Amino acid sequence: MEKIVLGIFSHPDDAEFICAGTLSLLKNAGYKIRIATLAPGDKGTAEFSKEKISRIRMAEGAKSAKLLTADYYCLDFEDVYIIYDRESINKTTALIRKIRPSIVFTASPDDYMIDHEITSRLVQTACFASGMKNLEISDDPFEPVPYLYYCDPMEGKDKLGNPVIPAMYADITGEMDMKEKMLACHESQRNWLMAHHKMDEYILSMKRFGEQRGKEINRKYAEGFRQHLGHGFPQENILLELLGDKGIIKLNSAT
Ligand SMILES: [Zn+2]
Repeated sequence: MEKIVLGIFSHPDDAEFICAGTLSLLKNAGYKIRIATLAPGDKGTAEFSKEKISRIRMAEGAKSAKLLTADYYCLDFEDVYIIYDRESINKTTALIRKIRPSIVFTASPDDYMIDHEITSRLVQTACFASGMKNLEISDDPFEPVPYLYYCDPMEGKDKLGNPVIPAMYADITGEMDMKEKMLACHESQRNWLMAHHKMDEYILSMKRFGEQRGKEINRKYAEGFRQHLGHGFPQENILLELLGDKGIIKLNSAT
């Protein structure tokens, strides 16, 4: 099993908001980090063309990934057109087979945005199908099925406003500087929000949510995760083992 972690999300900056701190911890634990997005963030602008903002945002994603000496990949989906179909499953599985991760992070299956929810399902299937011989893609299958973790949805709630309770937390207090630096690479988004709110809401909202998760485990900053434990997936909690004293399961789950 190779020591490779893949964070695969819908849009550039998703990883930075919800798992960059934990990716940094895993890098320190000796894992190679890879970050991928299905779409280039082509709707994340009020001023540029689709092509221009895509170029800008892919460069921002690559710059951020570089801070973890990580490669950045972007598939050719488009924002708000991430669809669960045959072609999308094949493309997502092909990427996972190229990277051969042992641990995968993706978006929450319950989220405010359908792109994120569909990405979550595509990644679930792509991990499950990583070792299936008869898929319609040329990349070689590999085993075992990676450990799969779902990150928190934005603001920790689903689309009905119900809280999504993490099954475990990573204490990212020591990684907050790195997380902030990575998020700040996404200047196009940060400046857009800054113009709108007249303050640095982009960075502030990330820190507020990190603080909220931190409070739940009596640490300064944290990120929350749920492990995919369906049939066919590895059952032990490798993330908890790897994080040592920074991996925390909250015994009192009431929030
Ligand atoms: Zn997103």
